[in-house]
Order: sequence, then structure tokens, then C-alpha cells
Amino acid sequence: MKKLTELYSGKAKSVYATDDADRVIMEFRDDTSAFDGLKIVQLARKGKVNNKFNAFIMEKLSAAGVPTHFERLLSDNEVLVKKLQMIPVECVVRNIAAGSLCKRLGISEGQELNPPTLEFFLKNDALHDPMINEYHIRSFGWASDAEVAIMKDLTFRANNVLKTLFANAGILLVDYKLEFGRFNGTIILGDEFSPDGCRLWDATTRKKLDKDRFRQDLGDVIEGYEEVARRLGVEL
Ligand code: ADP
Ligand code: UDP
Repeated sequence: MKKLTELYSGKAKSVYATDDADRVIMEFRDDTSAFDGLKIVQLARKGKVNNKFNAFIMEKLSAAGVPTHFERLLSDNEVLVKKLQMIPVECVVRNIAAGSLCKRLGISEGQELNPPTLEFFLKNDALHDPMINEYHIRSFGWASDAEVAIMKDLTFRANNVLKTLFANAGILLVDYKLEFGRFNGTIILGDEFSPDGCRLWDATTRKKLDKDRFRQDLGDVIEGYEEVARRLGVEL
């Protein structure tokens, strides 16, 4: 597999073309950003940890019937994935209240959400990823009704698999963001699942083990990610 030109460089990953028109290489960098790129630093080992973590989770999801773009790890920081036409909508599931939900609705952090709730955000940094609803998705043509139905179904199916996986490691899956794309007429899970895009709390102490350690200047950011990886059995 030949790595060709860089197609896109995002806040945390770079995407490269390959000699296969249907495959791209994603490179996980050590760059860490928050607040729409306002706060950016390099955190040693982050690229490697997230790459391995993501591969582990994608394989679990795929085994549980959630189709993903993951093909194979190429190196510590690189993964081969199917090239998707990305849908510019972030799907967020929340099992416990935290983050923007608390600010928006005046809810206290930690309240259990039963049933879990789902929100959509437009992937647009310049507009600070505004919250949108299914009618916006339809009216602006970001995805069809059938595609939205599939994204919702896959996002909740992932919740059942991942809640259990993390619970068995003594961790609460508080919330997470998924991105989907089109591949040969089907909708599949793209981007990444790592502690950069979800909230993970120790089930006993509620210690934060995810990117909130970076957002809130709590320190030991990558140590938190590595602890989750160790408990899940991810080989780093
Ligand atoms: P951002 O664009 O938010 O700064 P990243 O730094 O993570 O995010 O960049 C990765 C980019 O690659 C994202 O825009 C994401 O939508 C896109 N992407 C993820 N998976 C795929 C894929 N399989 N094919 C094409 N693009 C993808
Ligand atoms: N999230 C993400 N990328 C985004 C926005 C949110 O990965 O651009 C994740 C975030 O890490 C959290 C969940 O989605 O796990 C919900 O985020 P929230 O809406 O609370 O936003 P925040 O306050 O974290 O910006």
C-alpha cells in the first residue's frame, strides 16, 4: 500500500491518498485541540495511543455488526481505512449529562439519562459546530431520511456494545461522538473512537479519564487515556 499525497490535515489527524482509490491512510498526530482549535498543544504518545485505541474499538464494533471503515493498522500512528464521502453531521449519544448539554439546559453534571439521548451537530468549526435537528439535515440535504435512520440505529447499537465493554473495565461511558460516511451506497462508521471524542469516568471514583483532562487543565491527559487502554486490554 503506497502512501501518496496528503488530502486533508485536520486538528488531530491527517488523511493521505493511496494507490487504491477506495482507501486512504489516516495518520493520528500528537496535536491536541479544544474549543474549536483555540487551545492546541502536542501531547507525547497521543497519536499512537489513539490509533491503537481506535483500532481496538472499531474491531469490537465491527464484530458486533456495526460496519466501519477500519481495514488494518499500518504503523504506530497510521491506519488504513475505506475512503468515505463524509456526512458533515456529528452524532452524539449521552448516557450521563456532561459538557455542552449541562451548559445549554442547566443540568448538573453526572445526572443519569434514561433513556440515553441523542443530539446532532453540524461539523463546522467556523460556526462552532452548532446543534442541528433532523429537519435541518433534511432541508439542507446533508443526509437523506433513510441515511439519518441508519446513523441513529448504528449510533445506538454502538452504545449497547461500548457501554458493556467499558463497564466490564470499571468505566462509565458518559457520552461520545460518531461520524459516518458513504461507501458504495452504504452508510458506515468513519473517523475515530478514542478518548478524544468521548467522556469516560472511573465507575467508582468518577475520575475523568478522557479529553476533559485537557479541556479542564486537570493534567495527566495521556496517562488517563493509557489507563483506559490498559483496563480494556488494548495493546499499546
Ligand atoms: P477535524 O476535521 O475535525 O479537524 P481530524 O483532525 O480528526 O478532524 O481530521 C480527520 C478528518 O478526516 C475529519 O474531517 C473526518 O471527517 C475525515 N475522515 C474520517 N474518516 C474518513 C474516511 N474514512 N474517509 C475520508 N475522510 C475521513
Ligand atoms: N465531541 C467531539 N468533537 C466535537 C464535539 C464533541 O468529539 O467537535 C465529543 C466530546 O468529546 C464529548 C461529546 O462529543 O464526548 C459531547 O460533547 P459536548 O457536546 O458536550 O461538547 P463539549 O462541551 O465537549 O465541547
